[in-house]
This record gives sequence, structure tokens and C-alpha cells, in this order.
Amino acid sequence: MPDHTANPNEILRVQNVRRGFSKPQDELLVLDDVNLSLGRKEIVGLLGRSGSGKSTLLRIIAGLIRPSGGSVVYRGAELDGPADGVAMVFQTFALFPWLTVLQNVEAGLEALGVPAQERRQRALAAIDLIGLDGFENAYPRELSGGMRQRVGFARALVVDPTVLLMDEPFSALDVLTAETLRTDLLDLWNERRLKIESVLIVTHNIEEAVFMCDRILVLSSNPGRVIAEIKVPFPHPRNRLDPAFRRLVD
Ligand code: ADP
Ligand code: MG
Repeated sequence: MPDHTANPNEILRVQNVRRGFSKPQDELLVLDDVNLSLGRKEIVGLLGRSGSGKSTLLRIIAGLIRPSGGSVVYRGAELDGPADGVAMVFQTFALFPWLTVLQNVEAGLEALGVPAQERRQRALAAIDLIGLDGFENAYPRELSGGMRQRVGFARALVVDPTVLLMDEPFSALDVLTAETLRTDLLDLWNERRLKIESVLIVTHNIEEAVFMCDRILVLSSNPGRVIAEIKVPFPHPRNRLDPAFRRLVD
């Protein structure tokens, strides 16, 4: 097995992570001895079958649930809850339906104790960055799926994360909408308009992984463990998208 721990540009490390869920009779071991490392300026894919534990692993890295064993080390310190600097985008957007776009995005900052006026300014900047200006006062139900996920992205980006975790962020969208959002995100990444150092994207779409990622990790099932690492060769596919295709998705 490749050694995922030897990464000189490491910013976050998952080491020997195990996670089980109790069942009536016994325990379901979902993740067993997962190791991976995220470095600076890389987009890493996590590919695996349904039920292999991808979302569980992302939730552990985000500090939303705890591992049964092992640890997540972020900037040299072991995490024991959500870290300031690690943000997550969810597959089904996870927006508050009773809040407007602006309020949803501001909600990303509330837990951090940012003062109201600064919250508003930062939320408006994130909304603008992700192409949602003009929709500040709309409610999620008034938006298309693609726009809702843009709100999900704005809410994650507003905290100025160092590490961005994405759990199948495009899988609930139709293919062209997904392509547009992927391309917009990659443009922000390529133009260095984000402070993000490292992206971990969960997907079960191999083409998406090859298109977006510098490195792809493969998670086995029953139990989940990183069993392979694939490096995507240069010149990277995401830097040579055909202009005609770009016009189609823009
Ligand atoms: P993936 O995202 O790769 O499809 P998940 O991480 O969602 O996989 O789930 C992996 C396994 O863990 C599944 O068998 C799922 O039923 C189980 N699981 C996930 N969360 C819980 C939970 N909170 N309680 C019990 N079982 C869970
Ligand atoms: Mg999942």
C-alpha cells in the first residue's frame, strides 16, 4: 500500500482512523485504519462505492463526528471538534429553508462569533464571488438546485477555509449545471482567488475525479480503507477545457 503519510507539504493528516456504528447485535465497522494526507495547493479526490464510508470519513475530518480510534491532525494539532479553517459542502446542500440566501451564508460565521456587521460584509463578498449577487434575499425554495448549491459553497467559503471538504457536491445536479459549477469553482481555484490550501472531494464519478483532482484516493468497502492512490498526469485535464465546451457550459 502506498505511504500516504509522507507528504512534505502536509496540512492535514488522517491517521489510523477507525469508525464503527453500533447495531442491535454487534458493531458495523465502517472505516478501518484509514490514513491519508492533504498537502498544500492540491485537490484530492476520494473515490469509493456507496456505503464505503466516504461521508463518514468527511464528517470525521470536519469534526462533526468522532472517530472510534485514530486521529485527525490539522496544522500539527489533533482535532477534537470542528476546526476553524476546515469547511464542508454537503451533497444535498443542507441549507436552512426558513433563512434567506444572505442569512444562510451568514450562519456560517455565527458559530465563529464574528460581529454582525462584519458577517454581513463577508457574506455579501462570498455571495458575489460564487455568482449569487441579486439573490441575497431569496429563500432556498425559490432557487434551482445549482443555485442552492452555490449557497452551500458560499456558506463554506465565507469562513475563509484553509481546507475545503466536499461530499459529492455535484451529484444532486443535472450534468450541465454540475459542469458549470465545477468549472466556476476550478476557475476560482486556478486564479488563486480562494485562500483554500487543500480540497478533498468525495465522489463516485471517476470522470469528475480525473477532471478535478491532482490525486485520487480509492476507498475500499467493508471496511473502508484507502487501498490505492492515483496521480493525475500533467498537463492536467482541468487546464485544457475546450473553449467550445466552455461556451456551452457558461
Ligand atoms: P458513503 O458516503 O460512502 O456512501 P457512508 O459514510 O454514508 O457511506 O456510510 C457508510 C456505512 O455506515 C453505511 O453502511 C451506513 O449505513 C453506515 N452509517 C453511516 N452513518 C451511520 C449512522 N449515523 N448510524 C449507523 N450507521 C451509519
Ligand atoms: Mg456519502
